[in-house]
Amino acid sequence: MGRCKKNRFIQRAPHFHGFTTRGLKWKHDTDVFLNYEEYEAINLCDYELLTQEEAARMMKVSRPTFTRIYESARRKIAKAFIEGHDVRFIGGNVEIISWYKCDTCKISFTLQKDSPMACPLCKNELITESH
Ligand SMILES: [Zn+2]
Repeated sequence: MGRCKKNRFIQRAPHFHGFTTRGLKWKHDTDVFLNYEEYEAINLCDYELLTQEEAARMMKVSRPTFTRIYESARRKIAKAFIEGHDVRFIGGNVEIISWYKCDTCKISFTLQKDSPMACPLCKNELITESH
């Protein structure tokens, strides 16, 4: 089966590697792998409380594609939650959108991969990456 190589856009990667279960006498040795786009789908819909329509736009994917990612994420989390699996975050076809702040005019902005590292407004190169 061909795999879609198209990048999805995410605002941030998870700042930790996953979850471990607690208090299990017998532990599954099979981890559940949640990729970054699935993590972002949960972030956008269930944490930031965007609609699926808005979330799809943020990740630059079609609405049906978003729904597929989101449902896959929910199923994996439910499986881990109910059966007691560790969850590990792994990459995926994602491009992480970094936010920058101009030191001069204080605006926040994102940059495309190939664009110059400078403020789009005043062209100043004194910019700081913000998280
Ligand atoms: Zn500026």
